[in-house]
Amino acid sequence: MNSETEAGENPGRQWSLKDFEIGKPLGKGKFGRVYLAREVKSKYIVALKIIFKEQIEKYRIHHQLRREMEIQTNLLHPNILRLYGWFHDDERIFMILEYAYGGELYRELRKKGHFTEKQAATYIASLTHALAYCHEKHVIHRDIKPENLLLDHEGRLKIADFGWSVQSKSKRNTMCGTLDYLAPEMVENKAHDYAVDNWTLGILCYEFLYGAPPFEAESQNDTFKRIVNVDLIFPSTPSISSEAKNLINRLLVKDSSKRLSLQKIMEHPWIIKNVDNL
Ligand code: ATP
Ligand code: MG
Repeated sequence: MNSETEAGENPGRQWSLKDFEIGKPLGKGKFGRVYLAREVKSKYIVALKIIFKEQIEKYRIHHQLRREMEIQTNLLHPNILRLYGWFHDDERIFMILEYAYGGELYRELRKKGHFTEKQAATYIASLTHALAYCHEKHVIHRDIKPENLLLDHEGRLKIADFGWSVQSKSKRNTMCGTLDYLAPEMVENKAHDYAVDNWTLGILCYEFLYGAPPFEAESQNDTFKRIVNVDLIFPSTPSISSEAKNLINRLLVKDSSKRLSLQKIMEHPWIIKNVDNL
């Protein structure tokens, strides 16, 4: 199985559990367990995400999961985790995913404390390219956070987990996601659009450089207040360049229409100066 051949050219291919050898567990989420697996015929390595139908029924996430799978199948970008296909048996749904050897970016961040400006800029540029591609396809991710960012064998960033994403041409109005990464218009439950992902890029850029998201607080209520007031503080350590702070300041803007566009992020001096190969 290869990203551009079988799965892509033959979307009607009927997979079953017999086509795979199952290996070690890779992780566990709210609904899914993920295992390393190998397609028997081609020996192609994948990640198999297993979701119990009982859970889907219990939490009534049937529509959300279908949407996640449809959206992810149609997104073909080097910084977006591929979903090659899916199948099910009586109890379970199996998602055949691209394997991300490097695991969670979050683990890497915790291990290192914070990233260098080069590393941070490279991740932000990868994310910006992937989000520009998503927005072109009218997909807003809305749940970009370090746990949903994976790394492949070359350390390339991959956006995973499209569980909360929406395909939309109009302003959305639903509450979802983790508070720390949410834009003011989302925590205030106002209509929102693509610019929520631009806000999140500002949050991530800050977290990559300082090791913690900017509006972290003891309680959800305090985080909420800090977000809506854009209570942004740059600590003195680590020492961060003024260009990096400039980019963050231009993304964490309350008025969503005034946030830096994805195009302008790619042209920002800090990005231009620091990006390695994506
Ligand atoms: P949640 O909704 O809580 O985020 P989930 O049920 O959507 O969880 P995932 O986030 O998709 O599950 O996967 C759980 C974990 O498994 C990930 O955080 C990651 O550590 C690991 N994992 C998932 N997909 C892959 C993959 N393709 N390659 C390597 N590891 C993976
Ligand atoms: Mg997840």
